[in-house]
Amino acid sequence: MSKRKNPIKRKKDSATNEKEGIVQIVMSKYFEKKKEEQQETIKSTQNDINNSIETTNVVKKRRKIVNKDGNDQKWEPAHWKEHWNNILAMRITNKHLEPRGCDTIGDTITDEKVRRLHILVSLMLSSQTKDTMTIAAMDRLLEHEFTVQYALDIDVDQLAKIIYPVGFWRRKAQYIKDTCQILRDKYNDDIPNTIETLCALPGVGPKMAYLTMDFAWKCNQGIGVDVHVHRISHRLHWLPYDTKTPEQTRLALESWIPRDLWNQINHNIVRFGQTQCLPVHPRCSTCLNRYICPASTSEDTKKTAKQKI
Ligand code: SF4
Repeated sequence: MSKRKNPIKRKKDSATNEKEGIVQIVMSKYFEKKKEEQQETIKSTQNDINNSIETTNVVKKRRKIVNKDGNDQKWEPAHWKEHWNNILAMRITNKHLEPRGCDTIGDTITDEKVRRLHILVSLMLSSQTKDTMTIAAMDRLLEHEFTVQYALDIDVDQLAKIIYPVGFWRRKAQYIKDTCQILRDKYNDDIPNTIETLCALPGVGPKMAYLTMDFAWKCNQGIGVDVHVHRISHRLHWLPYDTKTPEQTRLALESWIPRDLWNQINHNIVRFGQTQCLPVHPRCSTCLNRYICPASTSEDTKKTAKQKI
């Protein structure tokens, strides 16, 4: 006897087959779409690579033009004067974005020794710290009429509380106390006036020493290189060779920047780095240097670079 299929089961089988068919169609459409998307991504990555190669070629050409007269000619980066003038012009436009700078510390103090001390201490506080925090900490020290004697009298924990929350506030409080002891013992409550003697103070590095010589002693001894100057020098290709540390960058910059500009570099470039050429997401599309900056990410720079090739 032939077996007859249950009509309900037959109905179920055909419904299952239909469902499976739909799933297969959806899956195949999904994989097709994925494949298309992958191809698009590969295409756009390839375009990006080509654009970057093209831009690099333009930069190489610019560098060659500068060096074409031979080795005797002093190396200097392409377009640096335009870069510099644009940076100064952008400082005027971005003035409203600038925080009050450490270079204004001590403006209201008439005692020269105290003024110089405040400049040195503000620079010690400023490392790894935002300007606004440094200024606030200095304002609190000013309320206590901060002097060498004050630093010697106050307990280190009390001093740390006053300067908190600048970066490394505990360590800096100790540095300030130790430094003031040296200023009392060796410099008659004044600060020393050479790079070497300044760098010998606890917590004082080359950048602080060069800026102290400039702001406190009005003596142009070298370029104060911090993270902003280091970063922007690389972006603008202002370095004749690659550098890893701010000290190496200082030496590389001083090899070609005219000496009378050394004491103008730090505060102008730092302000530019805080308001326009930011560490992450620099504002290239509104930067006056976008057509002559090797690191520009502005879309119209890429177009111009392509046209020139
Ligand atoms: S174009 Fe961009 S990277 Fe170049 S200097 Fe201007 S903001 Fe900085």
